[in-house]
Amino acid sequence: MEFIRDYADWFYLIGAVLFILTLRGLSGPKTAIAGNRYGMIAMAIAVLTTFFVADHPVIWMIVGAMILGAIVGIARARTVPMTQMPETVALMHSLVGLAAVLIAIAAIIHNNKLVELGPELLVANGVSFHEMSKVHLFELFVGCFVGAITFTASVFAYGKLAAKKWAKTISGGWVKPVQALIFIAMLGFGIHFFLSGSMTSFWAMTALALAFGWVWIAPVGGGDMPVVVSLLNSFSGWAAAGIGFTLENNMLIVAGSLVGSSGAILSYIMCKAMNRSIINVLFGGAMGGAAAPTAGAGEQVQRNYRSGSADDAGFLMSNADSVVIVPGYGMAQGRAQNAVKELANLLKEQGVTVRFAIHPVAGRMPGHMNVLLAEADVPYEDILEMDEINSDFPATDVVLVIGANDVVNPAAKDDPNSPIYGMPILEAHKARTIMVIKRSMATGYAGLDNDLFYNDKTMMVFGDAKKVVEDMTKAINGTGH
Ligand code: NDP
Repeated sequence: MEFIRDYADWFYLIGAVLFILTLRGLSGPKTAIAGNRYGMIAMAIAVLTTFFVADHPVIWMIVGAMILGAIVGIARARTVPMTQMPETVALMHSLVGLAAVLIAIAAIIHNNKLVELGPELLVANGVSFHEMSKVHLFELFVGCFVGAITFTASVFAYGKLAAKKWAKTISGGWVKPVQALIFIAMLGFGIHFFLSGSMTSFWAMTALALAFGWVWIAPVGGGDMPVVVSLLNSFSGWAAAGIGFTLENNMLIVAGSLVGSSGAILSYIMCKAMNRSIINVLFGGAMGGAAAPTAGAGEQVQRNYRSGSADDAGFLMSNADSVVIVPGYGMAQGRAQNAVKELANLLKEQGVTVRFAIHPVAGRMPGHMNVLLAEADVPYEDILEMDEINSDFPATDVVLVIGANDVVNPAAKDDPNSPIYGMPILEAHKARTIMVIKRSMATGYAGLDNDLFYNDKTMMVFGDAKKVVEDMTKAINGTGH
């Protein structure tokens, strides 16, 4: 026991290194399992060491809370469907925020109690006394308000993603002034607390931070929630790091900073792949998240496109040398991933080279397509990222676009007036033949028409993704190649 206490910093250092290895491992599908294991070991080291370094731990309370948490966590992890992953993640971030707030409150109440009792009495009873320094107050102030914002904002993000009635998007001219007012008042009370140590200011700051989290996220459109969730992930990390300073726990500082910075990087990558700025996502507010279409509703022109049947498409693909499948939100929506995998296997059996092209923001959450394809057991080596595959499109016989739209919209490259101009895309339009599965000519998330659908080389195959892909498979089987 004494040994663990004496070498606590070393254990924390090992844990911190393992956390870094965890992130490294999670950056690729092949190393992800090892990454997860490092994370588990690091967490176990962190928790166990903390038991030994804590001053007077109330073991039954901690163990009780851990058992309860584990029961809820395991039950949830076993039952949550892949489609509810984003809201589950949002809910978990809310707990990190809440924990940061509760720890800050506990630290302050604890400190006040010590001051009340007086240093002499404490020392006489063998309890060490530290006067709370300004630095400590500052950490508490930051940890508490970042935690409070993270808590309510994440609860709202959860409600929005789970389509709960209470998570209503708010809009109107009053939103921004109210946001600004709450934010300034929150900072004001926070600074007063920092300068005077006044508990009234502390409670006011916490309450305002809770309110701010809500009004800040409530105007953001549903489609932008994944970026918000990733940003809140970053926030929860910073809140944890702040609390790490309060508790003088190095491990928490390191782990919090890792979460904070990785979440910030992910938010940046997502915004870049959508050609949006983070400010636009967070404060663009109430535009439904999507960019407004350029053409006025009245000036819609009838354009010609070619459509074909699943049978035609199946026949063309089975005669091709190379097929690249571009999955998008529609594949997720139609739960077509297993059918797609079967189609790919069948084509491969017939000597066709089949690969998958993944755009960083295809679908509605980071890694959405990778997760679905992994779930359907598509081999990792067949899944290529945008940068790896883009140069191969001109030499590709058939591109099969399944429920993707914005991520293959050539306007992002050719039309400087398009709201998505500059967004990197999968250059499917360069392939020899393009097939697009979707249910109608409707627009995608960004609300924009897509020239790809009217291209001479394109054949639209209308219908629900799963049904169409199954029909294609049947058609190819029927051709008896
Ligand atoms: P899009 O939303 O652009 O297009 C999806 C298409 O799928 C629609 O046009 C729809 O057409 C079709 N579709 C929907 N359901 C089905 C179905 N059951 N069967 C067949 N087709 C279907 O999706 P993309 O993946 O191309 O692009 C993603 C968009 O989401 C980008 O604009 C991105 O910026 C945005 N986004 C992504 C995030 C992420 O983290 N990945 C986060 C937030 C936004 P139809 O109705 O005619 O069937």
